[in-house]
Amino acid sequence: MTIPQDPDLCIDLHCHSTASDGALSPAALIERAAGCGVSHLALTDHDTIAGLGEADRAARAQGIVLIPGVELSCLWKSRTIHIVGLDFDPEEPRFRQALQQQNDNRWARARMICERLDKLGIDDLLLRATEAAGGDVPGRPHFAEVLVGAGVVRNAAQAFKRYLGNGKAGDVKAYWPELPEVVHWINGAGGIAVLAHPRKYQLTATKLRELTADFRRAGGKAIEVSTSGQSSGDLGFLAELCRKEKLLASQGSDFHFPGAPWCELGRIMKMPDGLEPVWHSFKQPVLSSAPP
Ligand code: AMP
Ligand code: FE
Ligand code: FE
Ligand code: ZN
Repeated sequence: MTIPQDPDLCIDLHCHSTASDGALSPAALIERAAGCGVSHLALTDHDTIAGLGEADRAARAQGIVLIPGVELSCLWKSRTIHIVGLDFDPEEPRFRQALQQQNDNRWARARMICERLDKLGIDDLLLRATEAAGGDVPGRPHFAEVLVGAGVVRNAAQAFKRYLGNGKAGDVKAYWPELPEVVHWINGAGGIAVLAHPRKYQLTATKLRELTADFRRAGGKAIEVSTSGQSSGDLGFLAELCRKEKLLASQGSDFHFPGAPWCELGRIMKMPDGLEPVWHSFKQPVLSSAPP
């Protein structure tokens, strides 16, 4: 059964802060979300929950319900895939250990990216990327920022196209765990594993069906049906996939920074009918518009 969605609810279950590669601090992100009319938000930084404490304090002040979130990097058939974890226990010891492992691997990967991009002749690349990341472990967007600053490329898109994107020298995948392991971590912490932005992996429809089936067999529970930058055709395809695999449906903007008109907090295409929303399965199910 699908419960009709409350028009007063505005649910965004995928976004980023300065704790990973977002432009806004967790508190500033929450403030913006409130301005955008978001009622329920999951902050899902890449491989870290370091922003959740600050976000939680800000959310309480703004009357937003914050759902624990994270976006974990993993591998499926040698491709990098993102799995969003929602509504988990952030204190669960094995989950925390897994996040520490991801962080260690991110540092090892950052060093490897520097080695691979050494030929560009940028002095102190790791130091500069770390500065771009605010002192935390740098991700590819931070390397892109340094490449732009050094005049090697014109913009981030070009940095990814030439040096950091899929199959390029700075695309180092070797450090990520396999998909089932990541799903296992989330389930072990009592959370819900969501296959993030399925249309972003540039997979054929057949491969995407295969990925979704493997994800479900590994214990995955939901897929992101509605996310920014999708066509209505994508939305229909993902809704069908969601129904076929009997998965829960999630939605999120994947907001990283202000100023991109195609991506704003809480601005998400309405989910097609006949899907079971993931938020009905939260420990405190979101069924009405009344925040606690
Ligand atoms: P990482 O987790 O360090 O591998 O970085 C992945 C992040 O890089 C994604 O979440 C996006 O924010 C960003 N990204 C990936 N591809 C591109 C691209 N082509 N242009 C700009 N940003 C990108
Ligand atoms: Fe990102
Ligand atoms: Fe992602
Ligand atoms: Zn994301």
